Amino acid sequence: MNQRTYLDHNATAPLRAEVRDGVVAALSLVGNPSSVHAEGRAARAAIEEARAKVAALVGARAQDVIFTSGGTEANAMALAAPFEDSGQQTYVSAIEHPSVLAGALNRPKTTTIIPVTQDGVADLDALAAMLAPDRQEATRPFVSLMAANNETGAIQPIGEAARIVHEAGGILHSDAVQIAGRVRLDMGSFGADMVSLSAHKIGGPKGVGALVLAEGAEIAPLMIGGGQEGRRRPGTENVAAIVGFGVAAELAMAELSRMDRVARLRDELEMGVLALDADAFVFSRNAPRLPNTSCVVIPGLKAETVVIALDLAGIAVSAGSACSSGKVETSHVAAAMGVAPEIAQGAIRVSLGFVSTNNDIQTFLGAFGELAGRLTKDARKAA
Ligand code: PLP
Repeated sequence: MNQRTYLDHNATAPLRAEVRDGVVAALSLVGNPSSVHAEGRAARAAIEEARAKVAALVGARAQDVIFTSGGTEANAMALAAPFEDSGQQTYVSAIEHPSVLAGALNRPKTTTIIPVTQDGVADLDALAAMLAPDRQEATRPFVSLMAANNETGAIQPIGEAARIVHEAGGILHSDAVQIAGRVRLDMGSFGADMVSLSAHKIGGPKGVGALVLAEGAEIAPLMIGGGQEGRRRPGTENVAAIVGFGVAAELAMAELSRMDRVARLRDELEMGVLALDADAFVFSRNAPRLPNTSCVVIPGLKAETVVIALDLAGIAVSAGSACSSGKVETSHVAAAMGVAPEIAQGAIRVSLGFVSTNNDIQTFLGAFGELAGRLTKDARKAA
């Protein structure tokens, strides 16, 4: 196969070679980590080493890391806490990942959606008004606000949200799947009571993640019947995947101080796209954003067509949010930001990683520019 240009790190980052080695070695660990014999203890030690590394990535205590099957399960676990019949109210932002939105909207009577600004940042005045003390029952409101959006990269004001939520006696969960390993995060000062992580966004294996609690926070298990993960997530642990997560976390942490290189590549990409067409624009351009994520549009283009054409040219990007099934639907994030559907349908998400190069950006710009010229001419002719 010809050389590919992979610019879809927010969907999945390529597995790191060191992670592969760690996973392969861990697959040979014989014991069950709950067994007391030497084989069991060796598997347990491998898990605890990984736990310490994942904890370090987000400045948490190792005992507060609960390994799960991924970001989706971590979100489900956090969201499962409020029960509709308890009267506890749930508030989630309009731009959450479907694993949060769907969980919350499953309880429509007790769920309220927090709107976002045109820049795709949660409207905290609206949240404060929703949490006004006279509206609250005796139960603690549960709020879920992602740390950074997977489509636009917009970073959310978690510190301020935490102040508002805690003043109202509530609990704040933050889906940190996209921010971890890209921006330094420290549970001690971050403000959220719990965060969700996923290994495959940072070069770890797919199918492993974690819910990380702030010191003193607690969570009920989703499943029952086993003592693993401090009785918070029963079932024999996926030892090899957890080991891989630990290796990825350690490497991602070491790269954090050099993420400005990735941000410069992103800026170069955006300047290149904006130069292609006078009407081109970048989502959430005025908001603080992840260093690796660009969601760009040239009006008149259809994302579906662009993604397929770029794929044929050897370049992997996504159409808006396509990380669940590959199907292209108008993005709920763009809709929440008030972007017209005919514009939103052209949104392309380009997400870089530490391995991305200047050459990748030039390859993308060359192919996208050629395509945009051809397709917009066709679209304008047809109009
Ligand atoms: N949350 C966000 C913001 C994501 O981007 C994703 C990935 O698609 C998830 C959660 C789900 O994570 P996982 O694929 O590990 O279930």
